[in-house]
Amino acid sequence: MGAQIIDGTAIAQAIQEEVAQEVSRLKRDRGLAPGLATVLVGDNPASQTYVRMKQRRCGEVGIHSVGVELPGDASQQQVESRVRELSADPSIHGILVQLPLPGHLDEEGILSAIDLHKDVDGFHPINIGRLAMKGRDPLFAPATPSGIIELLDRIGAEISGKEAVVLGRSNIVGLPVSMLLLKRNATLTICHSRSRDLPLVVKRADILVAAVGRTEMVKGDWIKPGAIVIDVGINQVEDPTRKRGYRLVGDVAYDEAKEVAGWITPVPGGVGPMTIAMLLQNTLTAARRSVEVS
Ligand code: NDP
Repeated sequence: MGAQIIDGTAIAQAIQEEVAQEVSRLKRDRGLAPGLATVLVGDNPASQTYVRMKQRRCGEVGIHSVGVELPGDASQQQVESRVRELSADPSIHGILVQLPLPGHLDEEGILSAIDLHKDVDGFHPINIGRLAMKGRDPLFAPATPSGIIELLDRIGAEISGKEAVVLGRSNIVGLPVSMLLLKRNATLTICHSRSRDLPLVVKRADILVAAVGRTEMVKGDWIKPGAIVIDVGINQVEDPTRKRGYRLVGDVAYDEAKEVAGWITPVPGGVGPMTIAMLLQNTLTAARRSVEVS
């Protein structure tokens, strides 16, 4: 029997609709319009595209977005002081500094300038520190890892006590999703480029999260029958039959894996759409908290 497909597009759409309803309720009942500021430094085309997508989706749910653009040679002090101004602006509830920043800037210094309560991307060093500590919770967790947990919850997956294997240990995906799985009481194994015997380790996983950025690295026969497979990878593969000359594939050999797994996310249409949905949800949460505490 083939795996059930986890439809991230539909789940993200449902979250977006829930957020839109809550945003209009907040406007009606409290006169409050949630606001997100995006901070883009330089002219990296991929970053520009991501920021535009985030702003468009904000518009769709009624979140007011403010785009701050700074030149690629902006100084540390210029970027930090702009972020501090946004931190002090009561009409802004969430601040997102688009990463990566140009190489001359100190990322940690800039992320630290974000008001902790507005850190909707969850990358403020204090939020990351709380994510890594037992018994403490961050105010916000990073969006892609939160989206992965949300997918697991929405399919009714039990996480507690399960063997979870995460492939990848990046600050954006692998490490934070590992911490979230641990907080949910999974028994956790984290693998990286120096790990050995990957097929054997992966075979133990009831829940597998693949975030390595290596085209179809995980083969069908690595997977435990019935496992939940979350494929975060987004890799471009040449494909002359497509208008743009390539197609997107994941880190998991999907056609093989879906014959063995119990549940699987497709690429595209799995984890990808969840990232912005979680950002919208976090911005709504930040706005709600701002009226709860005032
Ligand atoms: P990074 O390149 O930052 O990290 C990759 C991780 O994979 C590293 O920890 C690396 O190990 C590990 N790795 C690399 N090769 C191997 C290997 N052969 N065996 C085992 N581990 C390996 O990538 P990201 O975490 O930023 O992204 C991972 C993938 O997820 C990419 O395809 C990216 O495009 C996608 N992505 C998707 C998102 C979405 O859907 N919204 C959001 C963010 C990313 P080491 O630490 O030892 O170098």
